[in-house]
Amino acid sequence: MYRDTELFRGMRDPAKLHGRCGRCEFAGICGGSRARAFAVTGDLYAEEPWCAYQPGSFPFARAALAHALSAATADAAGYGPGAAQPGPAGRDDA
Ligand code: SF4
Repeated sequence: MYRDTELFRGMRDPAKLHGRCGRCEFAGICGGSRARAFAVTGDLYAEEPWCAYQPGSFPFARAALAHALSAATADAAGYGPGAAQPGPAGRDDA
């Protein structure tokens, strides 16, 4: 359901966002709370009402996005901080 329904696919699509979230360079890794946007405005794709960020105002956005994407790639490949760590020496079941 999470992966395939139109509703959830839409919520993960930054191109559907409106307002500041729709203009934000971080929409692809943030996107704001869709639940909060819907609760406050009735529009599932409205801008995140509690976010104070003004799109384009962070001077290191490109470097931050590159870091976030490289971390996500490392996670997906099993090398990031969320990857399983080796167990204690001598234990195969950890
Ligand atoms: S405006 Fe705020 S909540 Fe929306 S995508 Fe950008 S950082 Fe996230």
